[in-house]
Amino acid sequence: MFPAPSIPSYANSLRPHEMPGLALLGGTFDPPHIGHLRAAIESAEALVLDELRFVPCALPAHRAIPGVSASDRAEMIDAAIWGQRVLRCDRRELSRPGPSYTVDTLQSVRDEVGNGTPLIWIVGADAFAGLASWHRWRTLFELAHLVVLTRPDAHALIDPRLELELAHRATSAPLDLRTQSHGLILRLQIPLLPISSSLIRERLAAGRSIAHLVPEPVCRMIDERGWYRRL
Ligand code: ATP
Ligand code: MG
Repeated sequence: MFPAPSIPSYANSLRPHEMPGLALLGGTFDPPHIGHLRAAIESAEALVLDELRFVPCALPAHRAIPGVSASDRAEMIDAAIWGQRVLRCDRRELSRPGPSYTVDTLQSVRDEVGNGTPLIWIVGADAFAGLASWHRWRTLFELAHLVVLTRPDAHALIDPRLELELAHRATSAPLDLRTQSHGLILRLQIPLLPISSSLIRERLAAGRSIAHLVPEPVCRMIDERGWYRRL
């Protein structure tokens, strides 16, 4: 079971600047790496978050089934975030059958925190580029704000349907994400480390070192359990 939400139930009666800052970072985390961790810490600082939850998916809707089980990936996240006060691992997708759709996850968090509480879904620019193919993607904006992590020099072409959403939802002020409960898009420019789980899996399959690309306890766990030795 996932832990009880720490966002208080009286949140709806608070003034905007007192609203709790709750954000979710979804992914496969196969495995979690320091790119994820730095992105989470930079986001938490920039958005003045009280809580940022990593949400590992059980069964990704858009990619191959991961070689490492969802509960093992969640265990790696626990090890990776140990000691970071604001970071948590939310296991709700692990107990849901079928594909792990973000819209279902956001609806279940929304049901817990209530309608007035701001909720933020964080995605990397690569994930955002494909958003218009996600299950019921337009409903995401009725449930949460979207924060897109972007490199300062990024000028990727994006789907015209997303351009349209950006045109009337974009904001550049993090505080706006506390005065409204959902529906805005903020592009957050932070330094992004050029590290991916794919790169780590490739290195492990080739028998190479991943030291300092993932936190040391995760490195140890992967080594002891023999994960990712073959692609
Ligand atoms: P893979 O290579 O298997 O796709 P990944 O490193 O992209 O793995 P995911 O679990 O797919 O990891 O990503 C989870 C979220 O973290 C996504 O929104 C993704 O855009 C973001 N992300 C991944 N790597 C980084 C990074 N180095 N810096 C910032 N965000 C990242
Ligand atoms: Mg990815």
